[in-house]
Amino acid sequence: MKMLSHCLRAILATSLIAFAASEANAASRPNIIIIVGDDMGYADVGFQGVKDYKTPHLDKLAADGARFTNGYVSGPYCSPTRASLLTGRYQTRFGHEFNPGPPSAGLPLSETTLADRLRASGYKTALVGKWHLGSEADQHPQKRGFDEFYGFLGGAHSYFEKNGILRGTENINELDYTTEAFGREAIAFIEKNQKQPWLLYLAFNAVHTPMDARPEDLAKFPHITDPKRKAYAAMMTAMDAAIGKVRQSLEKTGQAESTLIAFISDNGGPTMPGTTTNGSINTPLRGSKRTTLEGGIRVPFLLAWPGQIKPVVVDKPVIQLDLHATALAAAKVEEKPEWKLEGVNLLPFVKGKNNDLPHGALFWRFGDQMAVRSGDWKLVKYDSNVETRSGRNNEPATAAKLYNLADDIGETRDLAASNPEQVKKLQALWDDWNTANKPPLWGKNGEAGTAKKAQGKAKSAAKKKPQKAAEHDD
Ligand code: CA
Repeated sequence: MKMLSHCLRAILATSLIAFAASEANAASRPNIIIIVGDDMGYADVGFQGVKDYKTPHLDKLAADGARFTNGYVSGPYCSPTRASLLTGRYQTRFGHEFNPGPPSAGLPLSETTLADRLRASGYKTALVGKWHLGSEADQHPQKRGFDEFYGFLGGAHSYFEKNGILRGTENINELDYTTEAFGREAIAFIEKNQKQPWLLYLAFNAVHTPMDARPEDLAKFPHITDPKRKAYAAMMTAMDAAIGKVRQSLEKTGQAESTLIAFISDNGGPTMPGTTTNGSINTPLRGSKRTTLEGGIRVPFLLAWPGQIKPVVVDKPVIQLDLHATALAAAKVEEKPEWKLEGVNLLPFVKGKNNDLPHGALFWRFGDQMAVRSGDWKLVKYDSNVETRSGRNNEPATAAKLYNLADDIGETRDLAASNPEQVKKLQALWDDWNTANKPPLWGKNGEAGTAKKAQGKAKSAAKKKPQKAAEHDD
């Protein structure tokens, strides 16, 4: 009896040690959620001043952690931003400059994703929502580091149509509303995986076109008369509510303090005239999605980690590829030089442990358009036609202009003529950065480029559903 009791005590002690170790592990290696909104305007969240509707859950997230007022994305539209977020490198380093037009185009198989890296270190990984990094079998999210996938492969999707919404590789049987479904799937993943750290990439299609709003959400905005803006408000409200529910599930399962949450939009609001606009507002920024003006690349940008990051507003310029480096650092995955990561771990900056600028300069290349920002100075060659003309940006970019964003956030006063030295300096920085860029793997307007050759693929376009081409629009 004495012997048995001794054994039981030993077993109990061992279990307690194992339990404590797993608890410590959970605390030291947080879960990571990267939430991406699609085509949101800079001004379209409460914490950045929206007036005609409310975003209480996003505002709460902003108030709980770090809000970046100079948060950027490296792509002025969908797929390039996602390629860079997931690889931690500027997308032009590997030719992913434009949205993938040709059927076989997608994130080059030579690239490793954040999901690959975190999964290799013991994380459970899921993508819920929009992929837009390739529709072929070997480009599927579950071949690119994600254990689980629920969502769609292209660049846009109906919010009500179940056809094309996949669980893994199988079409789902019923769908109420994508925003609702994505929130629900995210919560299921969060509730299911409490024993090991996880990565959840939650990429809503809200508020990208089509402007599919639910009647009950539309009914909340009788005061908004413009039908597009009304739909936008309804769709934003639905996404905000879904994000609120996701955070509730973290609280409910006791994972709030062991979860790092990032939120960005993948690009600025498409405010140019034309059929692909969504009613978004980028004020006080100038320009639109598809331009390297601030309106195309500066976005709502949040990072929260209750207990680890105190509420703070950060004005230093940061960029979405920093989220890759930040996630790896939080997960204690050591960055390898051969990964050639270009993002910076933001945690020391938001915790006040590093007061320098995270980046000497930030860079953009988008066809003929370019931009470089160093400190408050920005040199930018943009497509002015996008601001005034409907349709695609086929026109050549204008000459580079120089703006000082400290007192000219709206990029209204070109200082190039009076500051030739500054122009020269910024251009030299950009030229140097550009030497390591690759030519685009496919064309700006979806035309086939060298993508097939580059990826060693030669599959027939005829096999693809006609819907795919439309899905890739923006
Ligand atoms: Ca987008």
